[in-house]
Amino acid sequence: DKFVNFDLDKNILKALGNLGYKNPSKVQGEVIPKLLKYNSVIVKSKTGSGKTASFGIPICENIDIDNNDIQALVIVPTRELALQVKEELSNIGILKKVRCSAIFGRQPIKEQIRELKQRVHVVVATPGRIIDHIQRKTINLDNIKYFIIDEADKMLNKGFLEDMEFIFNNISQNSTKGLFSATIDKDIKNICDIYIKDSQTIEI
Ligand code: AMP
Repeated sequence: DKFVNFDLDKNILKALGNLGYKNPSKVQGEVIPKLLKYNSVIVKSKTGSGKTASFGIPICENIDIDNNDIQALVIVPTRELALQVKEELSNIGILKKVRCSAIFGRQPIKEQIRELKQRVHVVVATPGRIIDHIQRKTINLDNIKYFIIDEADKMLNKGFLEDMEFIFNNISQNSTKGLFSATIDKDIKNICDIYIKDSQTIEI
């Protein structure tokens, strides 16, 4: 299989070529078609499998760049990962002019508020700071098409369960969900049962 066989925007294909991505990895081959069609997925897969692009490509493909709403939210357990994921999504969407922003704690909230007032299509964030913005009403997540939880197992290990639930309850209920985790234990299954309806499970 090749990326050119997916029905992708030519600017996305060109950006993937520039990144040196020719063939989709296993997880990408499974996940990309499902997220492109707005099917929610629960994915058991490790770092290094190409999981970031497996949600990054469908998100960038389905962003309407003429619409200034935030259209995708990705939450991650650490600021390092937020920066890394934002970088990868920016690289995939760069020629299509998709705008991505990383939002995390221990950073001036005023600067983030200013950034969120600009045109931002995709937000990659740690849970605590995103909740802060939701409560201050400085972020509007009513129109997101995608809500992705990356490294869900680490998220729970860091005590972010209630934060995750708060976010699930404060975003567009129509959004397509993607939960990625190296392990799927009872707690994660429980979250998926409550918040991610009609999903397909993929194990790599
Ligand atoms: P990830 O699992 O998302 O952290 O990705 C692991 C590494 O693989 C990253 O350095 C990506 O840039 C790279 N990568 C992701 N997808 C592909 C692909 N289809 N072809 C080659 N490299 C890739």
